Amino acid sequence: MNPIFLIALQRNGALDDTVAELIATAKTLDPTVQATAIACGYGPELDAVCAALTKSVPTTWKISHEQFATFNAEAIREGLVRILPKGAIVLVAHDHFGMDLAPGLSVKLGAAYVPDVLVVEAGQRLVRQEFAGQFNARMECDFSGGAVITVRPGVFKPGSQVEVNGVVVDKSSEVSAISVRRRYVTTIPAQVGDVDITKQTVLVSVGRGIQEAENIELAQELADALGGAVSCSRPVVDAKWLDKSRQVGSSGATVSPKVYLACGISGSFQHMAGIKGSPFLVAINKNPAAPIFQFADVGIVDDLLEFLPALTERVRELTE
Ligand code: FAD
Repeated sequence: MNPIFLIALQRNGALDDTVAELIATAKTLDPTVQATAIACGYGPELDAVCAALTKSVPTTWKISHEQFATFNAEAIREGLVRILPKGAIVLVAHDHFGMDLAPGLSVKLGAAYVPDVLVVEAGQRLVRQEFAGQFNARMECDFSGGAVITVRPGVFKPGSQVEVNGVVVDKSSEVSAISVRRRYVTTIPAQVGDVDITKQTVLVSVGRGIQEAENIELAQELADALGGAVSCSRPVVDAKWLDKSRQVGSSGATVSPKVYLACGISGSFQHMAGIKGSPFLVAINKNPAAPIFQFADVGIVDDLLEFLPALTERVRELTE
């Protein structure tokens, strides 16, 4: 039985949505093991995060260091290597920070590395997507020397969580002398366009399947009827059909609406990385094998140029 750890990401003292997802992943991986959360940071924000974690996991390891105040994966990796036991299975969200942290961590721990996991099955089997979603690969893993597993955000739905009364173990003294070669100087906030897609409850998001700029009006009409806004995938921005501020994904904005309609979007990892908070996801795509259907709560196989106007009309009928 390997001990399981999860790296609890936080922003400004608030736990990231991926923490609940990693807790769910840990339970699936080995229901007999209680995962330990590791919170890295510095100052009062770290204490707030640790306090929040005690409600979700029995044990939280706190590692405080001024180098951890920013998401400096190099520094945090050095700290983790000092405290993680041999054979540890470490779960990390497959986001920007996780992709920076995890490969080097697995090398330093001499552990297996399995990135971008979508499914965990019994018998230490993991499923991940290959070649930008063209097919899935099921693999068996030897966890005897430990493993670092990155988990795709938004895939493992957090179950109904029982509140626990956990403890915080301060491991900071074990990570005191850390030398790093990269230092974060300043944080530059992302520019917000005419519409702030990060603040919307409903997003009608268009992808390459919308085919031409003029058709975006179909999505705008539906968004207006639903009281939401239009966002998009990267090809739509590359084609200059919408402003960069509307782009969802790893090189765009991270959004957390309640409802996300993905219209003519294939469901690439880079796009899905920008959708947080497990929204109700409706996918409209004419290809029944499109990867987006793996994430969708409701999947509609249809031509969106016909489906969108019909849906808008129905919404108007119901709301007028
Ligand atoms: P496609 O993958 O081409 O999918 C179009 C879909 O539309 C298809 O599934 C097709 O079946 C469907 N379709 C076509 N016509 C119709 C129709 N009439 N009706 C219904 N369905 C139809 N992408 C992002 O979105 N955000 C990012 O932030 C991002 N960052 C990236 C960063 C890097 C470093 C790299 C390398 C790539 C990045 N990408 C990003 C690009 C990403 O890899 C994908 O190429 C992109 O997400 C695909 O966009 P799409 O789904 O709109 O297009």
